[in-house]
Amino acid sequence: MFALVDVNNMYVSCERVFRPSLVGRPVVVLSNNDGCAIARSNEAKDLGVKMAQPWFQVRHLEREAGLIALSANFELYGDMSSRMMTLAARYAPRQEVYSIDECFLDFEGVSGDLVGIGRDLRATVLQWTGLPTSVGFGPTKTLAKLANHVAKTADRKPGSYPAALAQVCDLGAMSRAELDDVLRVTDVGDVWGIGRKIGARLHEGGIRTVLDLVHADMASLRRQFSVVLEKTVLELRGTTCLSVEDAPSPNQQIMCSRSFGEPVTGLSELTEIVSQFASRVAEKARAQQSAAGAVQVFITTSAFRKRDAQHGPSVTMPLVRPTADTRALVGAAVHALAGMYRPGFNYVKAGVMLVDLRPQGQEQGELDLFTGAAEQEAVAHHQDRSRLMGALDALNRRFGRGAVGVASAAHRTAHSSHIARQERRSPRYTTRLDEVPTARA
Ligand SMILES: [Mg+2]
Repeated sequence: MFALVDVNNMYVSCERVFRPSLVGRPVVVLSNNDGCAIARSNEAKDLGVKMAQPWFQVRHLEREAGLIALSANFELYGDMSSRMMTLAARYAPRQEVYSIDECFLDFEGVSGDLVGIGRDLRATVLQWTGLPTSVGFGPTKTLAKLANHVAKTADRKPGSYPAALAQVCDLGAMSRAELDDVLRVTDVGDVWGIGRKIGARLHEGGIRTVLDLVHADMASLRRQFSVVLEKTVLELRGTTCLSVEDAPSPNQQIMCSRSFGEPVTGLSELTEIVSQFASRVAEKARAQQSAAGAVQVFITTSAFRKRDAQHGPSVTMPLVRPTADTRALVGAAVHALAGMYRPGFNYVKAGVMLVDLRPQGQEQGELDLFTGAAEQEAVAHHQDRSRLMGALDALNRRFGRGAVGVASAAHRTAHSSHIARQERRSPRYTTRLDEVPTARA
């Protein structure tokens, strides 16, 4: 049995932990350089603010409806994320971090009251970090993800699902009839990996609800859609068939993480590993024509090596401009690693995650806003880089992954020369000593 734990409105929830006055108010978090909304509180969603909507389009709501806009504070979100992940990991033998605010827990071999475990997990994360989560259980990852959707929606929109399913929902514990009732009122578009496009095509073909999809004819689905959709349907029917690589990538993140065969203690070895991971995520970002606004890096020791001292830091670096350039991303990732690495620990796992993704070209628009000669040069330089990255990808496709890459050591300081414009950023409460909250009594 799998669980999917997901923080509700992650970025806004992180801000509310330290500014309770934001609770109940419409709040949006803006991307780097304060461009567009990348997170919305439920109240902001109710005002009609759309995901990725440019700030200038909704700015009027500041005066008219009390909308509050904050600059993204990825350093805070990344740190809150690792606290939440550490707590969640205690509840199951295996954890797979899926995105900055989501993880799968594998409960194989665990018996007992899963909903009770889920409620305890939720209460503990809320009490210890202040972050509200939703927890979904299911016999496959796709069903766990769907259970999470039900748990969240039942909580947010009373009446959408039975109230008992709010916050924690176990689809695996339901009778066939109960499960069918849930699937009958859930749109196919809400299934993991079925985007708006495929969702619309399914609707055209008369497959509107998840129940329709579960009963759909497999052979004709295979003819019309991809093998991935077929796997999704099998998963909805309760057969596990999505491996980690097959799993649809989260909307706003790209990640590469792996456990090492042998523990690693040296910085130079870790630098090499992190550089490889950063190159890999950069390549993935370019393949889907995205650019990242921030890079998160984590390294961790193993809780199973009981005699080892434990260290599991995670650092998130905001980028000056969204980018998919290998050199910029490797530079930022290596910089983050150098800041958090401590000698003498046996590290067994590392990961690099790109967050705050947006379509490539949007950042081109930002560059075009500038007119000075220096900026023109920056644009030219940027285009140069895209061509270079295209050549890099072509070489690696032809000669195998990693055939051509960057020598990472030279980039250690490449990142830190600019500071992103973040006029509305909250203090980095949990990671900067001079920014910790003050309590007056
Ligand atoms: Mg979330």
